[in-house]
Amino acid sequence: MLENYKAIRKESKIKQCLHPNKKECSEKIIGAHSIQNNKILKKISSEGIVFMPCPKPDDPFAPMTSYGRKEATVFTGFCGYHDKTLFQPIEDKDFEKTEEQIFLFTYRCFALEYHKKQELQRMEQIILRKKPSLVNMPDSENPFMGNRMAIGDFEEDREIFDKAILDKSYIYLTSIVWEFNKAVKFACTGFESLQYDLKNNKVQDLLDFSKSVQHVYVCVFPEKEKTYCIISWFKKNDQLFSKYYEQLNNLDEIKKRNYINNLLPMISENLVVNPDAWEKLSQSQKDEFGSYVWGMETIAQSFGIEVDRTEAPSYDLFEL
Ligand SMILES: [Zn+2]
Repeated sequence: MLENYKAIRKESKIKQCLHPNKKECSEKIIGAHSIQNNKILKKISSEGIVFMPCPKPDDPFAPMTSYGRKEATVFTGFCGYHDKTLFQPIEDKDFEKTEEQIFLFTYRCFALEYHKKQELQRMEQIILRKKPSLVNMPDSENPFMGNRMAIGDFEEDREIFDKAILDKSYIYLTSIVWEFNKAVKFACTGFESLQYDLKNNKVQDLLDFSKSVQHVYVCVFPEKEKTYCIISWFKKNDQLFSKYYEQLNNLDEIKKRNYINNLLPMISENLVVNPDAWEKLSQSQKDEFGSYVWGMETIAQSFGIEVDRTEAPSYDLFEL
């Protein structure tokens, strides 16, 4: 099974450039870092290594996996030219919270998630080719069904991002930027199909298939002596997320940190942690972190248990 899985994973890799202006593309699709290599990964790594809660095919159930800095957070979603030119304002300049920089952080976060979902769709096609009888599987039993719908939702986001890039107009996002006076030893990009706000009011019903799902994008990264957290969504969803927006803005410093501590393992595999810092956690702290990675919050919610994301978990990523 493991050999099969590894082979299919490899075969399902997609090399493409997501940039909307294909005429400008350079020939080579490169391994683009979704978290900046020189600016961020270099600082978070120890001896060129970072840890990620993203298993490799040869150990698919490992809670934390070691990655070399050059391979960590890499995806093949841009050509060399577009990776270099599009992201220059966040690669070569300090983060100054400009509209363009916030857009680019958010867009790169989107690009990675969209690309990963496309690769998963390709994996489905490969499996169906190898075992055609699965075509008759009912939708309710198809493990790829959710991914298919998610791609449809992300394609709506893609249209807006593409238009913004072509017009160089970065006005489509609403964002919250938090600034902390400390450089942390982790970084993350991810997204969430927000179901509940911070007071456990329902925001979106993910089981209502008549509506497309709206996303919240999150990036957390250290820069110089500070750490920034960008939470963003499309302006067209301001009404939908209005209470959430207000709740986020009313959090004090501690609750902001708690929120990030809870949220990151829940929403993202694209999280890098300094290995020495991670090893400072006790086994039970690692286990609690791992339980969020494995979806404990969703399980709790399905039993009607309310989860308060502003309560401190046992670990504190900011103190590592
Ligand atoms: Zn390109």
